[in-house]
Amino acid sequence: MDLYFKIQRYLACLLVQQKKFLKLSEPVISFTFDDAPNSAFMNGAEILKKYGFRGTYFISLGLAEQNRPEGACFDIKHLTDVVEDGGELGCHTYNHIHFYKSRLSKIREDLKKNQDKINELIPGYRFTSFAYPYGEQTLESKKLVREIYDSARSINRGINYKCTDLNNLQAVQLDEHMDPQKVFDFIEQAIRTKGWLVFYTHDVQKNPSSWGCTPEYFEAIVKYCYNRNIKAFTIEKVIKMFPQT
Ligand SMILES: [Zn+2]
Repeated sequence: MDLYFKIQRYLACLLVQQKKFLKLSEPVISFTFDDAPNSAFMNGAEILKKYGFRGTYFISLGLAEQNRPEGACFDIKHLTDVVEDGGELGCHTYNHIHFYKSRLSKIREDLKKNQDKINELIPGYRFTSFAYPYGEQTLESKKLVREIYDSARSINRGINYKCTDLNNLQAVQLDEHMDPQKVFDFIEQAIRTKGWLVFYTHDVQKNPSSWGCTPEYFEAIVKYCYNRNIKAFTIEKVIKMFPQT
């Protein structure tokens, strides 16, 4: 990453925040899917449901039904199914744009377009959760995102506990390069800290992309959470557990 953008992200993380004190009586997990390929809506959702969980799907409606490196992007029919089933759709911009290279007016327009499009498909649905495409954050874009959404998930690795920046939620990626034992260690850490552990991945399929995982890998993580008696909720549901001010 260019040093200039690294500094941008560092300053954005430091100076634009939405701090809340997270005090949970027990640890909680969220499973999120970025982009999100059909396999996330099918295999990912099926595995979560098997254990009584639901996920958050961060979608860029401009990618609908397109082919991406991680497989075919979602079919429109999956969107209503997820919402009716208790899952959540989050915003990931309309065109999966780079914040580092976009003017604020373009970002604003793009976010609005994603909201308008989802309302054509699901009238009245409001995105309350956001995930930064490519994890890119700038001072101005973070302020805008904070105005519109209740939370924004980053790709900064970590667990959310105690003083949590809702404008920069920490997360842990699930992909085949990540040793499952390391993932289990994060879950144990969430238990010890009574924290909020947010996972993210992309495709969940037999031959996954570098950003995704196999159904077996994904299920091993979900099952571990289930066996450790941790509940998994959508981002939106966990945000409602924060004290309202
Ligand atoms: Zn993405």
